[in-house]
Amino acid sequence: MDYTDLATAFSTMKIALGLVKAAKDLLPESPQKAASETALADAERAVEIAEAQIADQMGYTLCQCDFPPGIALRKHDGAMRCSKCNRDTNEDYGVGMVGTGGY
Ligand SMILES: [Zn+2]
Repeated sequence: MDYTDLATAFSTMKIALGLVKAAKDLLPESPQKAASETALADAERAVEIAEAQIADQMGYTLCQCDFPPGIALRKHDGAMRCSKCNRDTNEDYGVGMVGTGGY
């Protein structure tokens, strides 16, 4: 499995979670709906954590602005920006970043 396959797998998981969330919103208010909201939030968090762990293993820089951490991505202007807080990870938080940032 290459990096593109992993990105596609995570994108597919997020789409699936979004579809389940949309279906959940159609349910009438009930304890079951509340339980499904909690389970979905837990599933989303687990996917975000797994995504950050894989990104770290792949050498991406992780921003410590949140948990699960934001992943720094190279933008069109060449800057490495956190996907959550949009900070330029090369300039603002070089010391606070984790990971090797090889991409
Ligand atoms: Zn951030």
